[in-house]
Amino acid sequence: MTMKVTLLGTGTSSPDPNRVQSGILVEAENKTFLLDVGSGVLHRLIQTGIDLKTLDSVFISHFHIDHCSDFLSLCQSLWLAGYERTLELYAPLTLREWSRGVRDIAFPYLREKVLVKETVLEENHVVQLGPVQVSTAPTTHSTMETRAFRVESRGRSMVFSSDSAPCHDVTDLAKGADVLVHEVNWLDGPHPEGVHTSPIELAEIVEQTEPKKVVLTHVSPEVVAKEEKVITTVGRRTNAEVVLGSDLMVLNI
Ligand SMILES: [Zn+2]
Ligand SMILES: [Zn+2]
Repeated sequence: MTMKVTLLGTGTSSPDPNRVQSGILVEAENKTFLLDVGSGVLHRLIQTGIDLKTLDSVFISHFHIDHCSDFLSLCQSLWLAGYERTLELYAPLTLREWSRGVRDIAFPYLREKVLVKETVLEENHVVQLGPVQVSTAPTTHSTMETRAFRVESRGRSMVFSSDSAPCHDVTDLAKGADVLVHEVNWLDGPHPEGVHTSPIELAEIVEQTEPKKVVLTHVSPEVVAKEEKVITTVGRRTNAEVVLGSDLMVLNI
C-alpha cells in the first residue's frame, strides 16, 4: 500500500444524519494531511483514531462553508492536543480575506495557540510534501475560486474533484488516476449551469479520464436515495468499478 485515503465527509450542505460535510484524510509515506475540512470533519478525524499531532497540512478547496467550517475547531483541538508544529494551510486566493476576517478578527486568540503558515494555491499549483506530490487545477464552480487535487505517491494517484461542473481542467488533472473521488451533488435534470456534476455528466468524465475506480462523494440525500440508478448511470461507459462513498470509507491505493 502506498497511500491510505479515508473519506471523512461525503455529504453536502443538505443535512444528512449519516454524512458530514466535505473532508478527506490522506496518509502517504510519512505525510498526513486533509483535503477540505467542512462541518463534522473534525469529529470523523477523531473517529479514525489518528494522533492529531501527526497532521502536517490542510488543503481547503474553496471557501464555501461546507468545505472549511471546521478549520477553527481543528485549530482549537490541535492546541489542546499540544500541537507544537506549524500547520501548513493551502487554499485559493480568497484565503487572504477569509484569514483576515475569521482568524485575525473573529478568533484572534487562536493565532497564538497554533501557528499556521498560509500558502495561496495558484490555478495549477504543485505542492511537494516530501515524496508526496499534490497538484491542483481550477474547477468550474459558480463564481467561487475552487481547486481540484491530484495526490501522487510512488506512482499511485488519487484525484478529488471538490465541487465542480464538468470542465477540461479537472478532466485533464484526473486522467489515468487510480482512484477518482468525484462529486455528484445532484441527479440529472434541470440545474443551474456551471456549478455541480450530475450522474450522466460524470459518466462522460469517467469515459474521458479512465480511472481504475470511481468513488462518488458530495452526494446529497436525493442522490443517495437513488444509489443504484446513479451507480449504473455513472458506470455505463466504463469498466471501472463505481462505488458510492461513505463517511470513514478507507481506500488503500
Ligand atoms: Zn462549493
Ligand atoms: Zn460543497
